[in-house]
Parts: sequence; C-alpha cells; structure tokens
Amino acid sequence: MTRLFPSAIAGSLPKPSWLAEANKLWAPWRLDGVELEQAQTDATLLWIKLQEDAGIDVVGDGEQARQHFVHGFLEQVDGIDTENKVTMGIRNNRYEAQVPQVVAPLMLKGRVHQREATAMAAHTDRRTKFTLPGPMTIVDTIADRYYGDRVAMAMAFADLLNAEARGLEADGIDVIQFDEPAFNVYTSEVAEWGIEALERATRGLTCTTAVHICYGYGIEANATWKQTLGDEWRQYEEVFPAISASSIDQVSVEFFRSQVPPELMSLLVGKDVMVGVIDVGSDEVETPEQVAQTIEMASKYVPVEHIIAATNCGMAPMHRDVAAAKLAALGAGAALARG
Ligand code: ZN
Repeated sequence: MTRLFPSAIAGSLPKPSWLAEANKLWAPWRLDGVELEQAQTDATLLWIKLQEDAGIDVVGDGEQARQHFVHGFLEQVDGIDTENKVTMGIRNNRYEAQVPQVVAPLMLKGRVHQREATAMAAHTDRRTKFTLPGPMTIVDTIADRYYGDRVAMAMAFADLLNAEARGLEADGIDVIQFDEPAFNVYTSEVAEWGIEALERATRGLTCTTAVHICYGYGIEANATWKQTLGDEWRQYEEVFPAISASSIDQVSVEFFRSQVPPELMSLLVGKDVMVGVIDVGSDEVETPEQVAQTIEMASKYVPVEHIIAATNCGMAPMHRDVAAAKLAALGAGAALARG
C-alpha cells in the first residue's frame, strides 16, 4: 500500500438516470444494443472521475454495466433458464425473489466484464478493484433443477468465476473482490464449504483478492431484518476465523452505524480490513470527522497498515448526489485520519 488508510468503495454506485431508472435495484435499462454498451462505459468513466476527485485510492467500475450484482454475471452463463423464473426465499427467507433456474451443466458463454474492466484500467492511474458475486451468494440467489446439491453447484460456479477473475486480472485489474453477503446468513456453512468455494474462485490469481461480507443494501427488507438481530451483531465472530485461515488477502466489513462489535475485527489476523466507515442505509452524509473517528476506533483492533477505509456496502439504490457526497466524505475523512 502506498499510504496509510487508503480508501475504496465496496462495489456498486447509483446509475445515472440516462442509463437506468434512478434509486432502484433491478432498474430496467433505458437503451439497448450498442447504445447501451456505450452508455454503460460512459457511466463507468463518469464514476471513475468522481472517485478520483473524491480522493478515493482504489477505484471501481461502480457496477454500471450490470443490472444486479449477481444476475449481471449469470447473464453470461449457459445452463440457466432465465425465461421461467420461480419464486424462492433467499438469504434464509429474508425476502422472496423471482430467480432463474439451473437446468443443465454450467458453462461460461465468454468473458463477462471485459468491456468495463478494460475501460477502467485504460482510464485511471489509481489502483482498480472489480467485484464478482461469491459462489455461496450465487447459489442462494438461483434455483437448482440440475445439480441436486448446493455445494456441487457452488463449486461449478466457482470454476466459472475463476475463469472470469483470471480474465479480469489480465485486463489489468489490481484487486478482485467476491461479494458474499450469504456468509453472514449461513455462518456455519462458511467453514464447511463456503471458504473452499471462495478459494476455488481465486485459484491461480496473483492480484490482490478480497471478500465483502455485509448485512445487505440499504433497502427496507434488510433494515427490517437488522431490527431482529439484537443489540450486538456477532455473525462475523463465526466466520472471521475461517477467513483468517484462508488465502484471501482483504476483507470488506460493515461497521459504521451497525451493531457490529468493533473488537470482532481483531479476528481477521494478517488480513487487510476494508472497514465500513460510510453507512449506505441512510441518506445522512457522514462528516470527514466522523469518518476519521471510525477509522481511529478500528485502529484499536486492526494494525493501521492493514486498514482500508470503505463503504459498508454498495450504494446502487441511493440518490446519485448523496452517493457522490458520501464518496467525498470518505476521501476527506481518510485524509483527515492520516493527519
Ligand atoms: Zn454488501
């Protein structure tokens, strides 16, 4: 790392209203064909510029070229029936979703994210991060009518993710992050097979690898779920030891305005910790002082050279102006913490 407390986003950013309907998950695209591809690239470059101006050290594509963090990947996978969706309770029935079905052996149709990854690598001198859905989260977001075994299907997805991750590395991406919100739901399965699937997805990579584990987007179903988790959210306590023992380099965690006890971060021995210092569940914009205070609190439990200041989760469903203001607070707060 080049300097203390580098800053990064967790993953997604809002789409401009000319690309997709604003303030909405799963918003339909406004364009199609080549026009859509060009607009997605334009939006990617717009957010790179805004991240750079905000002083963000590790920039991302903001997931501007995918409708949703899981289904953007699934669109390029053969063996999935996306026409006949079925209703499934996901994240242990926290919400019901219309999900596609796996009906045949899974295979990649080709590269998934090459266009936006190469655009990003070509247009910034900052370090770049790219996000992919993790295997456990994918199998929790799709119905199985073929494998008959959740773990076998997760391993099949891990192989596809690995192929795409190697491609992203070749495109010039510096950090590849797998998003595993499901780790906080099926905590006992993380050590049983979740980490194995994750490491399978990172096999052979020489770039930095990361995993993002959060309590979800700032949407109502998640806010309601969080109310049921009590005064202390201790899910990380069950999953961090297994992650600590894994080959994954960095862990992105939810922290600011959550009920996560800060001392749990000390369980991530030897890992870079992307500490969530920006809340994505509220439009209230953090002050740089608040961000610096949160970094300071994390530094009681994580060696300072291992702290990366980040957002709690993706900002896709937020208002664009609010997300931009939060990026500015993130960059300014990390600078303030550096002193
Ligand atoms: Zn998240």
